[in-house]
Amino acid sequence: MSVGTQAPVPSVQLLNGRFDALTLAETVDLVSRRIHAGERGYLCTVNVAILMMMRQDERLQRFVDRAAIVVADGQPLIWSARMLSRHLPERVAGVDLVDRLCARAAREGFGVYLLGAHRTVVDKLADRLAQKYPGLILSGVADGYFGPAEAEGRARAVAASGAKILVVAMGVPRQEHFIEEYWDRLSVPFALGVGGSFDVMAGLRARAPEIIQRVGMEWFFRFVQEPRRLGRRYLATNTEFLYLISRELLAARRR
Ligand code: UDP
Repeated sequence: MSVGTQAPVPSVQLLNGRFDALTLAETVDLVSRRIHAGERGYLCTVNVAILMMMRQDERLQRFVDRAAIVVADGQPLIWSARMLSRHLPERVAGVDLVDRLCARAAREGFGVYLLGAHRTVVDKLADRLAQKYPGLILSGVADGYFGPAEAEGRARAVAASGAKILVVAMGVPRQEHFIEEYWDRLSVPFALGVGGSFDVMAGLRARAPEIIQRVGMEWFFRFVQEPRRLGRRYLATNTEFLYLISRELLAARRR
């Protein structure tokens, strides 16, 4: 359940993750209402790989557990919830969320800070967004390649920018560590981590066609593009997820 003064959002427990039952449009509405209400918080987009990573990484699990909003970024999560008679209305992907949030931010005058990816990539994304959403206030644009010595300065720059929404795209769990470590000094009302979304939104990496997303095979599409790096990761996390969710389904049937 989302924390704060907003009307409570129903949530669904799926293995070790708690997901808010929100559509993309409802998520954007909720973020906007929270900002207007002066509530601080952050959002996590969790897919199967991240959910499994959380099981091994206590710090990441704790960070996600404390999020104001958690959305399910993967069709297999939606199906699994449905099979367990727990309703999640739709997948909310980081790429779509950033796009829709920028549209809303432009309308409502919220400044957005983009932090992550390589300089050329984030600059290109900033150009694209500025063209697509005239009036969008980009409070800051910075790459995500910096060492521990520079991190504090990056956080200070975000705080000084007056941004209302901080979007961090530095991969998991790098982005979560940054948000967690500097949360008290960032000053932004709202932050979210969106993994490799900037690369996709800037056109550097292709997004899986809609049909592939809908049949829950986006991971396979990404794997084909980067088999060496992602092969072992997806094999391990998908197998583990399938095993755990099957076990839960069997237990639910027996009840
Ligand atoms: N990235 C970043 N800083 C880093 C490492 C990665 O900003 O120190 C960016 C990278 O450019 C990409 C995104 O984080 O846009 C996700 O990176 P990657 O695909 O390597 O993350 P993973 O899929 O392993 O979470």
